Amino acid sequence: MKITVVGTGYVGLVTGTCLAETGNVVTCVDIDERKVNKLKNGQVTIYEPGLEKLFERNLKEERLFFTTDLEEGIKDAAIIFLALPTPPGEDGSADLKYVLGVAEHLGKILTDYKVIIDKSTVPVGTAEKVHAAIAKNYAGEFDVVSNPEFLREGVAVDDFMKPDRVVIGTTSERAKKLLTELYGPYVRQGNPIIFMDERSAELTKYAANSFLATKISFMNEIAQLCERLGADVDMVRRGIGSDDRIGKRFLFPGIGYGGSCFPKDVQALVHSSNEVSYEFKILNAVMDVNETQKKHLVSRINNHYEGNLQGKHFAVWGLAFKPNTDDIREAPALEIINSLLAAGATVSAFDPEAMPNVKAIVGDKINFAETQYDALEGADALIIATEWNEFRTPDFDKVLATLKEPVIFDGRNLFEVPAMFEKGFHYESIGRPLIQLPKIV
Ligand code: NAD
Repeated sequence: MKITVVGTGYVGLVTGTCLAETGNVVTCVDIDERKVNKLKNGQVTIYEPGLEKLFERNLKEERLFFTTDLEEGIKDAAIIFLALPTPPGEDGSADLKYVLGVAEHLGKILTDYKVIIDKSTVPVGTAEKVHAAIAKNYAGEFDVVSNPEFLREGVAVDDFMKPDRVVIGTTSERAKKLLTELYGPYVRQGNPIIFMDERSAELTKYAANSFLATKISFMNEIAQLCERLGADVDMVRRGIGSDDRIGKRFLFPGIGYGGSCFPKDVQALVHSSNEVSYEFKILNAVMDVNETQKKHLVSRINNHYEGNLQGKHFAVWGLAFKPNTDDIREAPALEIINSLLAAGATVSAFDPEAMPNVKAIVGDKINFAETQYDALEGADALIIATEWNEFRTPDFDKVLATLKEPVIFDGRNLFEVPAMFEKGFHYESIGRPLIQLPKIV
């Protein structure tokens, strides 16, 4: 099948590459000329495990093309995916200017029947708006389908190639047939394609992300209680996670959810609720808890240094909002670093993939280390902000020998508390008992 993907970011590039992998011929369109040139020259523009190999193969076998020209990009395509940004507007609503802008442009250049698929996360009613924007200038036949994307950065290729489910919102039989054929190779193991109306599909995506964010905020509140009641959140997590109705996943407390999806999608669903005069009480609390949790580690650090961070130097391991990605949108690490700098501290950071993206924003306000151990040089303490695998079993002797003082603030609960105590660390983590070492003087 000939397919166009408009928007070649985290979702668009993975979608385009994975669609090419099963034999489709895919043209990816983006307005960012630099990005398109890099991609044309065989350079993958994001870090996503497993993507590079697929990208190179499909580029070489001429199933994957890139252009900045929408008209050229949609020529001969049966299906056009929109994988465009839907950032939060000032009032928290999803900004549809990119999606509707492209839809209007499509209306001016369509010449025959095509299925336009919205993969971006968009509020209920957007498919109708996209339809209207196209129909303003195009009187021919076309269908607009809502097909929200559930891939997770870090495992996006696997998620696309073997999705738990594919949600397709359409009432058009013609579009249904085409999409059943398109997604066939990805659901061979029997995972369902769930057909529904457009509005339900649009809401499904927000409901999924908001539910997951709720799980995180719930566990962060349990962790706060553990810290105050002398309980261990790891034990509580295991205790409740073994109940099938609750499940083991997404029960890890930390430094608040971040990334390009959860914060904006929870906000957007609250905004949509308000618009129909419904107060979504749980989600308001989820956002509140997340704001508190993002500040929690810094307040623990402040307590440790009795409110005076002036002149302190911190090593920060991890900048990406989660491991296995270079995405730093709404990353808790950045908020932590900003608070430390504002309090007069300095920072040396290390992240396996995200440093160039952070450098582009913060410049030389912090130092970027070559290795995780270099970051420790001259640091009063280590802060762990992202749970990259390589931070899980570090050379603790080297850590002890390099840090000025054996102090670790772990926002991701990577290590066992008693073991850290035995190694001689003052180790603070989230929702777990603090075994206090004698104060270092
Ligand atoms: P992104 O910012 O990484 O990519 C968007 C791309 O669209 C950019 O490359 C940008 O240059 C391009 N673009 C902007 N305007 C354009 C135009 N007029 N024509 C062509 N290209 C244009 O965003 P993303 O993370 O891929 O997210 C895209 C959508 O998918 C969002 O709605 C997001 O909520 C949703 N989503 C994201 C994820 C994720 O993990 N990133 C997962 C599921 C759903």
